[in-house]
Amino acid sequence: MSDAASSGTAAEPEVVAPTEAPHAPDTGAVLAVFAHPDDCEIAAGGTLAKWAAAGREVHLLVLTNGDRGSQDPALDRAELARIRGEETIEGARIMGMASATVLEVHDGDLANTEEIRAEVVRTIRRIKPSILMTCDPTAWFFENRYYNHSDHRTAGLISLDAVFPGAGNPHYFPLHLDEGLEPHDVPRVWLGWATEPNHVEDISGYLDAKVAALATHSSQLAEGIAFFEEELGKEAVAAGEKIGVAHAEEFRVLELR
Ligand SMILES: [Zn+2]
Repeated sequence: MSDAASSGTAAEPEVVAPTEAPHAPDTGAVLAVFAHPDDCEIAAGGTLAKWAAAGREVHLLVLTNGDRGSQDPALDRAELARIRGEETIEGARIMGMASATVLEVHDGDLANTEEIRAEVVRTIRRIKPSILMTCDPTAWFFENRYYNHSDHRTAGLISLDAVFPGAGNPHYFPLHLDEGLEPHDVPRVWLGWATEPNHVEDISGYLDAKVAALATHSSQLAEGIAFFEEELGKEAVAAGEKIGVAHAEEFRVLELR
């Protein structure tokens, strides 16, 4: 029996003052994990740029090298991967990121394997992010206009599985401990491209950085950045209207701790 029940009157429920201090602003490191070199700009570029501008360490891990990102059958895939690697670094620089890494997995071949989970877990244990940003693995259909790329869904699955059960448990990938890394519980996961968003993040002042970072991926922009600039702008304005700001991005945010 609780103290409240034994000392209070039965008719008057006791009003308990909040004992928890308000949450301190989250200033910890961020790890963004996406499937393709240009995904993070589209899904979360404004938010990531805003966090970096606020002094947070924002790191990017791209799980595939993007070497099928072309309709030209004559294009050399290794050369495309090299170009996309450079575009990724430049986009990350514009967003103010601390690092950007592109894995050698072929575009379109991403699978939720132990090998790739190990790589994501290792990165989590190295960076110790307070937020892992990735994409919603349950997002299949966007209205009846298109459905989600397999690599996007798989990147979300890999990332969630790497967070839990994975990075925080010493029995997953114990060889990392021999490398001097410690288990790390990621307290928050943010999912972009979410079908059921529960959070709208103000990115006013950072839409330009999002579009400029995406514009570095010129191998993917045969017709220029204008289409994306217009579409991303419309999307940001529509999201912003929900919270009364100029521009915003929407996410499904999971508070794990
Ligand atoms: Zn993609």
